[in-house]
Amino acid sequence: MEIEVRSQSDDEMVFIVRDAEVPFINAIRRVAMVNVPKIAIEDVNIIRNDSAMFNEVLAHRLGLTPLVSDLDALEGLSLPEDDDWGEYTNGIMFHLNEVGPKVVYSKDLISSDSKIKPVYDTIPLVKLKDGEELNIEAVAKVGYGKEHAKWMPTTVCAYKQYPEITFNDDVEIDYDCAQACPRGILKSDRRSKKIKIVEEHENSPLIGVENCAMCKSCVRASDNGYINVGFKPNDFIFRIETDGAMPPKEVLLKACDVLIKTNPNLIELINKLYEQSRNEDAAIWRDVAQRLERSNRRTAEVNLSDIARHAEAGETVLVPGKVLSNGDLENKVDVVALKFSAKAQEKIESAGGECISIDEIMESNPKGSNIRIME
Ligand code: SF4
Repeated sequence: MEIEVRSQSDDEMVFIVRDAEVPFINAIRRVAMVNVPKIAIEDVNIIRNDSAMFNEVLAHRLGLTPLVSDLDALEGLSLPEDDDWGEYTNGIMFHLNEVGPKVVYSKDLISSDSKIKPVYDTIPLVKLKDGEELNIEAVAKVGYGKEHAKWMPTTVCAYKQYPEITFNDDVEIDYDCAQACPRGILKSDRRSKKIKIVEEHENSPLIGVENCAMCKSCVRASDNGYINVGFKPNDFIFRIETDGAMPPKEVLLKACDVLIKTNPNLIELINKLYEQSRNEDAAIWRDVAQRLERSNRRTAEVNLSDIARHAEAGETVLVPGKVLSNGDLENKVDVVALKFSAKAQEKIESAGGECISIDEIMESNPKGSNIRIME
C-alpha cells in the first residue's frame, strides 16, 4: 500500500491511498471517527447563571467547545477503559466567572492544565447583560466518539474511489461531453482534436482526474459513447478534517495504531466462533460472532450492576464486549467476556465467580449450553 499526501494543514489532510481494499479503508475511516481519544468537557457545575440561556444549553455548548487534544495534551490522562476514568479528580478543571455586560468567549474558560485549553479563543458561549453573572466549574475528560459526538476528533472523514476517465477512439470525438462537466475537468481542444483533462483546479489540492465527482454528466451528454467514467477499485482519495483539537495526521496514525492492535485477534476469534458453531451445531457461537462483528460504535459494555440485577447465583453469563466495574456482585456468577476491567475482575472473583475468556468457554463448553448472553 502506498500513500501520497496531496495537502496537509493543522485541521485538514487530503491523501491518495493506492493498492488497498475497501474493508480496510472503511475500517480506518470508522476507527478515526469513533475510536481515537479526544478531550471534551463532560461535567458542568453551574454555580450561578443569570444569563437568558438555559443551563442545559450552556452545558451543551461547553461540551462541544473543541479543546486541544494532541498527543502532548493526552499524555498521562485516564482513558474511558481505565477504572479511575469516572472519578472527577482525573479530569481537567475549568473555571469561568464573568460579570456583564459582555460576551463570554471560549478564551474566558480558565484551565487547570496549561496544555489543555480551547482550540479557538473567540467561540461565543453566552451574552451577559449589565450586572448578570456567570460562574461555573467544568471537568473535561478523555473519551471516544462512539460515546458522544463531542469526543469525535474528525468533522469530515471520508473517502471516494479514484476516478478513471477513458475515451473511445473508435468513434467520432464528441465535444459535447466536455461542455457538460460541471467541474470543468474536461477541456475541448478542437485544434488538436482532443479532449484534455485539466490538471490543476483553483482551491483544490487534487490533481487532474482526482477532481472528478463521478457524476457521469459527461457520459450522458455523449450520444456515441465517446467517454466513459469508472474508478480504480483499489485506489482511494481520502479526506480528514478535524475541529482543530488534534492534527489530522495524528488522527490517522492513531487510527492505524488502534486497528493494528485490536483487529487481528478479534478477526481470529470471530472466525473460530463461526467454525465452532458449524462443527458443534451450536447457534450460540454464531450469535456471539455476529454481535462481535458489529461496528465498534455498538460494542457491548456491561456493568456489574446489570449482571447482579439479571443473573442468578451459579449462572454463566457471556458479554460480547467489556465488563465494567460499576456496581457490586453478591452472588457467584461466572462471567465470559471479551475484556474485563481490572476492578470488575476483582469483584467477580471475590464473589466466588470466574472470569473466563470466550476462547476458554468454547473449549470447556463446546456446545455453549446454559450460557446467557447479556448486553
Ligand atoms: S463524471 Fe462528472 S465530474 Fe467527472 S468528468 Fe464527467 S462530468 Fe466531469
